[in-house]
Amino acid sequence: MTGPAYDLAVVGAGPAGAAAALRACQLAPDARVLLLDRAEFPRDKPCGDGISAHSVAELGELGALDVLDGYEPVDNLHVRSPLGVEVAAPLPQACAVVPRRVFDARLVELAVARGVELRRHRVRTLERRADRVVIDGGIEARAVVGADGANSVVRRQLGIAANAPEHVAIAVRGYVTDMPGLPPDELLIVLEEPGSLAYAWAFPLPGGGANVGYGRSAVDARADEAGGTDQLAARMRRLLPPAGDVADLRAHRLPLASAPVRQPDGRVLLAGDALSYVNPITGEGIHHALRSGRLAAEAAAAVAVDGGGDAGVAYRRALHAAFGRHLRQTSVLSRLCRQPGFIDAVFDLAGRRRDVWQAVCDSGLGAGIVPSRLIARQFAAYLTWRVRHVGARVVG
Ligand SMILES: Cc1cc2nc3c(=O)[nH]c(=O)nc-3n(C[C@H](O)[C@H](O)[C@H](O)COP(=O)(O)OP(=O)(O)OC[C@H]3O[C@@H](n4cnc5c(N)ncnc54)[C@H](O)[C@@H]3O)c2cc1C
Repeated sequence: MTGPAYDLAVVGAGPAGAAAALRACQLAPDARVLLLDRAEFPRDKPCGDGISAHSVAELGELGALDVLDGYEPVDNLHVRSPLGVEVAAPLPQACAVVPRRVFDARLVELAVARGVELRRHRVRTLERRADRVVIDGGIEARAVVGADGANSVVRRQLGIAANAPEHVAIAVRGYVTDMPGLPPDELLIVLEEPGSLAYAWAFPLPGGGANVGYGRSAVDARADEAGGTDQLAARMRRLLPPAGDVADLRAHRLPLASAPVRQPDGRVLLAGDALSYVNPITGEGIHHALRSGRLAAEAAAAVAVDGGGDAGVAYRRALHAAFGRHLRQTSVLSRLCRQPGFIDAVFDLAGRRRDVWQAVCDSGLGAGIVPSRLIARQFAAYLTWRVRHVGARVVG
């Protein structure tokens, strides 16, 4: 029997899939890599377009920093807590804002330039055999990376259920051509009512425009029957500085990493949103997509080279080493952030302490870890805040 036509087939050409394809080529330039996507590129993807510093570092790993060309670094972050505590300070490292229509297409173009075969194809079925995976009855590969996003078909084919609603967020995004209150080198994040972890954002784009949006938990949206695009956009407008008309409003779901998804053994590896790798505090998912995609390609290649072992097992170990502690911590912190006063207290502390500000940025906009001593400090600040503010209100 002849071997499969491809060493690796990647389903989905977003950041996770493109990263997997790029890494596969880096590891073995003559590898036969197929990148499948149901969409024609360039294509839009509802997103804040925020490319965090940790994502930029991942692009460096992939030799793909050129995809940021023409987009100036954004150095500052301005946050406002639910009860109005504001911090505006430099980010520990600069990030970028690049429309996904541009960002994703550039990554795909780079993968093709490095030898990846791109094919427009909507994947529907997978069959796992001893030595290969068969896609839609006819496309055969030694290993498959399922990077097909929040409604992943590959994940369903593996028998893994979608996240329960408490581990899903819903967010809307649009574009404005002018936002006078937004400096060109500053991300703005405005949190909504206490206890909700809902927030609006405005991220600057070249020429004075901005990507604007609003996201919240799917459970909260369902509870007050306000999960539609128009309702989400109305909340966004209430929180952000005035701007002109908002174009291209589109909503999408985010499967949060607070729902642990176990990567199965075998030749099919899930990455990015398909694996629910989205930061449960902020909804940041591009870094996790790039990094998990890269690790998936490394696990698939290691098994192909050694001829033995199991890609799923190797990948699970790599995910655990890269993300385990971060995911456990952000899952706990996301629950704490829903305690009224917690975010206010942390921002209040972050405004006074650089180490806390840095930890907040690193853990919310990437895969950073908040050191235990700072968690203890944040919790103490929260208790003090509650006594001062909530206690005062109860007594008053
Ligand atoms: C409104 C909103 C704002 C956000 N803002 C940010 C932000 O500012 N910064 C950030 O880091 N993250 C943000 N996120 C999260 C981020 O968008 C995702 O985590 C990220 O896109 C995940 O990348 P991915 O490659 O896993 O999936 P995707 O980017 O969704 O790519 C999946 C690809 O798979 C393809 N596909 C799907 N099904 C099939 C199929 N059956 N066959 C073939 N192809 C298929 C799709 O066409 C798509 O190209 C935001 C999310 C939302 C919804």
